[in-house]
Amino acid sequence: MWASWSACALLLAWTQQPGPGADETQPKRPAVSSEWLQVDGGELPLVLSAPHGGVKLPAEWPVRSTGVKVRDTNTLELAIALREAIRARTGMAPFLVASRVHRRHLDLNRDRSESGANLGEPQLELWRSYHESIEEAARAALRLGKGRALLIDLHGHGHDHGLIELGFAISAERLRAATPLEEEAWVRGQGSLGARLDSLGLASVPSPTRPAPLAGQAYFNGGYTVRRHRGAGLRSIQIELPPHPRRLAAPQRQELVDGLADAIVGIVRDEFVLPGQNGDPGSTRELIWWGPGPDPWQAARPRSLERWAEEWPHAVTVFGVPVLFSRWVGPAHQRQVVDRIRRSWDRNADGVVDDLGSLHRLRRQGELLLVVERSNRPGSEADVPQPSWANPRILCWDQVQAWLDELETEGEPGN
Ligand SMILES: [Zn+2]
Repeated sequence: MWASWSACALLLAWTQQPGPGADETQPKRPAVSSEWLQVDGGELPLVLSAPHGGVKLPAEWPVRSTGVKVRDTNTLELAIALREAIRARTGMAPFLVASRVHRRHLDLNRDRSESGANLGEPQLELWRSYHESIEEAARAALRLGKGRALLIDLHGHGHDHGLIELGFAISAERLRAATPLEEEAWVRGQGSLGARLDSLGLASVPSPTRPAPLAGQAYFNGGYTVRRHRGAGLRSIQIELPPHPRRLAAPQRQELVDGLADAIVGIVRDEFVLPGQNGDPGSTRELIWWGPGPDPWQAARPRSLERWAEEWPHAVTVFGVPVLFSRWVGPAHQRQVVDRIRRSWDRNADGVVDDLGSLHRLRRQGELLLVVERSNRPGSEADVPQPSWANPRILCWDQVQAWLDELETEGEPGN
């Protein structure tokens, strides 16, 4: 069910252009089968890509005659687990574009001319589709991040130094040189990805303590993907995970997944925009075109969505749950409602959900909160236009706390 939500979010994000009264348009879908390419939609200004973790060996596809053919073991599984771990923390998922096909048939982290010397049409199609999907996802991510987004390209190296290598498309020589980098803070400052991973026990290079790989130390500085997909607000980092703990069985790998998720959520929170983080509701029209997650945005036609936007003009998603306000709810009451909800799920105000139980349940049920100014106003204000959400819940602004308290006491067995 979660998968279908996120797919819908992406479809919606991809059909973004219509303005008021526009007709429904065809979403752009990847041209190749999902058997070869996994594409999941997202709700964060963050795209994960994984080109080398696939295991499928289509019998009829030629094997590449040159280049590296070993796969980056477990990186597809890690990318999927990382997406879930990030969703668990923020209520919102990153976009994911990952190959299911073995590198023996195609290297997606190479220029097309180098991706394989003897490629057949299906491979070329996959190569095109993979990079177009990253472009589409990045466009949607940039909209979510108000013009700024991050691409993480996930890999595994076989070097024996045990470090996570972070590739910024800057050579080891340049990192070792005495002159400061143009983007010193971003690459190896106190708030850099390397610093965050180090502090979680995942030793990385570059970082404040390891500003550059040692002379002679093996290091990947970033390949085709991070070099192609960057610029105009989009930043990209290649993460190369060491063999241990990447090759552990899934339950033992979870510590690595959690560390990566904490570090990446931190950097998105601090350097980019977590949608809805500042608590101030924006325009519902904008939220509609984002596609916050639940099906109904997608199921409804833009004309009906326009009606939604008129009836409920202010909206925000709090950890992925849409909260819409009727036009009668003033800014002070809007802010109060959002603050209460946010505080209830994130007591230490670090932008990450503390307790997932009630939030998971709400998201699973497709819950949407509709906030009105006065509960006794009949008809007009509480009129929910069709088609409605799976689970629209209408609350007066001053009933929100009671609803949150109730949620907490209900708990959730077996989550
Ligand atoms: Zn790789």
